Amino acid sequence: MTAAFTAAGAILGTASEHDAASAATKKPFVVVQAGHVAPREPGYRWQTGAGGGPFGNERDFNRRVSLALASRLRRHGIRVRVTPGKITPWAERADAFVAVHHDRAGGVAGVGHASSGAREFFYRGDGAGEPRPTPYADTVPHRRATSVNKAIEHRSRRLAITISKRMAALFTARNGARSGWDGVLPKRLVRTSNYYGFRRTRARARVIVEVGSAGADDGFLRKVDLIAVGLSRSIRDHLAAERARWR
Ligand SMILES: [Zn+2]
Repeated sequence: MTAAFTAAGAILGTASEHDAASAATKKPFVVVQAGHVAPREPGYRWQTGAGGGPFGNERDFNRRVSLALASRLRRHGIRVRVTPGKITPWAERADAFVAVHHDRAGGVAGVGHASSGAREFFYRGDGAGEPRPTPYADTVPHRRATSVNKAIEHRSRRLAITISKRMAALFTARNGARSGWDGVLPKRLVRTSNYYGFRRTRARARVIVEVGSAGADDGFLRKVDLIAVGLSRSIRDHLAAERARWR
């Protein structure tokens, strides 16, 4: 932390106390969610993730990548919390929230982000059937939702673009990826745009990464360290770029 940086934060203190304080005085803080890992979120507990591949099931993949990513970020002085499916603690403030997943066979490879217009969707029971914007009679009650404003949407999109660019460069046939990188995922893709995780955190930027799809990208999904490097570098790039906006 440089003196100039601290001074800039102090000058901007009137704009937003929290933003200036976290930019100027604190270590960056990132929440990494290992998708589907137990304990899972009420209303989504039946969603155990994509099935087993030669590298294990999606939960194990998400856990491995999340832990590898966390240790890389920590080496660069970033504070990290790894959370399971049930985001703990609820509504924590952070500089970024990154959910780690891979998709089922025939699915997508890309990055979805929080947007102010999207709400979380509801499933039958504890996570079955078709998602819809209102609860079914038998939907297990959800925990309270946090909000996503325009500033969070824009920051989330910037983080998604930064991650997507770096992952696209790694997502090659040579590295075992065969499905094609889909980039920043469109808002119409409900399971990423309306991801519940975006509404259990108060992170300043919120994304979900579908690292690849089962089957076609198995070779790539085995490369946990390569994936962790790509995610870690792009998150650090994002944090530096956002910090620069305060200077
Ligand atoms: Zn998943």
